[in-house]
Amino acid sequence: MMDLARGFVAILILVTGCRSQLAREGATDGAITDGPGVTDGPRVWDAEATDTSNGPDSGGVVDSGSVVDSSSAIDSISVVDAGSVIDAATAADASSDTPLDAAIPDDPTIIPGAANRILLLGMLVTPEIVVDGAVLVEGNLITCVDGRAACAAMPGAVGATLIDTRGVISPGLVDTHNHILFDIFDDADWYPTQIYQDHDQWPNEARYKAMLDVKQCLVNDSQGKPAWCAQTPYGTSAGSLRCEIDKWGELKGLIAGTTSIVGLAGTTSTCFSSLARSIDSAQNGLGQDKVQTSALFPPSSPSTVCQNFASGKTDAYLVHVGEGTDAKALGEFARLGTLTTPAGCLYAPQTAITHGTAFTSTEFSVMGQAGMKLIWSPHSNVSLYGQTVNIPAALDAGVSVSLAPDWSMGGSQNMLDELRFADAWDNTHWNDRLSAKDIVAMGTVNGAKAIALDNKLGKLEVGHLADIAVFRGDVTVPYAAILAARPKDVRLVMVNGVVLYGDSLLQAAGPAQPGCETIDICGVSKFLCTATSVTTNKLDQTYAQIYTALEQALLLADALTPSDGFSFSPIAPLVRCD
Ligand SMILES: [Zn+2]
Repeated sequence: MMDLARGFVAILILVTGCRSQLAREGATDGAITDGPGVTDGPRVWDAEATDTSNGPDSGGVVDSGSVVDSSSAIDSISVVDAGSVIDAATAADASSDTPLDAAIPDDPTIIPGAANRILLLGMLVTPEIVVDGAVLVEGNLITCVDGRAACAAMPGAVGATLIDTRGVISPGLVDTHNHILFDIFDDADWYPTQIYQDHDQWPNEARYKAMLDVKQCLVNDSQGKPAWCAQTPYGTSAGSLRCEIDKWGELKGLIAGTTSIVGLAGTTSTCFSSLARSIDSAQNGLGQDKVQTSALFPPSSPSTVCQNFASGKTDAYLVHVGEGTDAKALGEFARLGTLTTPAGCLYAPQTAITHGTAFTSTEFSVMGQAGMKLIWSPHSNVSLYGQTVNIPAALDAGVSVSLAPDWSMGGSQNMLDELRFADAWDNTHWNDRLSAKDIVAMGTVNGAKAIALDNKLGKLEVGHLADIAVFRGDVTVPYAAILAARPKDVRLVMVNGVVLYGDSLLQAAGPAQPGCETIDICGVSKFLCTATSVTTNKLDQTYAQIYTALEQALLLADALTPSDGFSFSPIAPLVRCD
């Protein structure tokens, strides 16, 4: 079965597949290439979204009361430098404290300046240390991470857009495992009806199969499309909604502070990845894709992966292994070692195990010695298998662990949900082994390590790409503030130096062309910049257009399958507020 979801190598090996092995990925995700002939979906506006495509209206968007004048902003820059570093251990110890609303500072302020240079003030979580300071972004790069005065003194800070975030400034969250083409679904569409023992069992549920049919049709997968799909426009390369679905997933991540997603999107089309980075695709904004994935076990062509390690084609290999709790799932780790020639060549630093739910200290010992990484999806694990990975054993063995949602059906809606779930599980099962700092690292720098991009992503560091998230919260416990944050608390998200989401107060920081939409996120007015000024291959689609195209498709799918008793509209929302 097909597992390759990479644009870089872009050679997809189509192996004959039986339906039972479609599992999550429909077996051939990576094999579809939507050509440039893909046409735009319906351009119907959704009443919930407001077009602000004429660019930010300074009168209506920026609350004049909250805009500070230059002199007071400069004054504020002189605040705290020396002695402002909060002892990381102290902050970590405070992780179990619930941030108090009373301790949350006021609204952010903005002084619009240069569009491509932004100076952010706030409590930095790098994430190794916390410091009240500043981050200067010039173009797509972070050029200063320091005290406020130091960054303000940089030549690039002169005339930059100045944002006093009055919040926590963090690297954008790095999602290392998300079946992004399922992100139009959530618990309302399918939830496991029982506790399972391994990953080959739950795909047999009738409702899951019906949901998979819808996904296979809408993304025009090469396999597993149901017969009714022929009555829709979606099961063709021109009608495929793969781009819209991928963008929906990127938006779900983006509004939660996620800036990179390993989504197994399975296309080299340029029609997406303009929002959060679909990091395992050619259009990830990095100029190359060296992340290789496998969602099925056994993976196809495992020995080729080792050759790719040696040649430098693949820097990171993320492979589903050991998902479940039975002997079969456990045995997959040993099989991973015997599948290859030479044996054991995937026990390498480039390999990140996705799941490993069944593993014991024996497997983690091998992983630790080999420098292998672990990608942990506790919420999905618990929903499917009633338990999750023995993370203390993994940490004891020296394994680097990152956190990721897996998907939204029984998993988390986004990275923030997943971080919070991990924290709660840790508190109730492992006596708070993990500090808030540990968990934030799992959502940022450790994720970047798993995809071998920690030289560019996952940290606030000079020279890194400007993928940054800002959270509203109690800045005196910044790690805990991130764990407490929901999408409504995400004050600003920047990808590659471009602000794409945030509080409406800060909309002036977003791209002026073609502009951004206003969106209500759980009662908080936000702006969301979905369309780019590129007018080809769907990159100019607005949030409203994407929403409408997907919702209409789900309605049509439901209408064509009246006898199965299942319905999959409405689309899973970008965020659930309950
Ligand atoms: Zn998975």
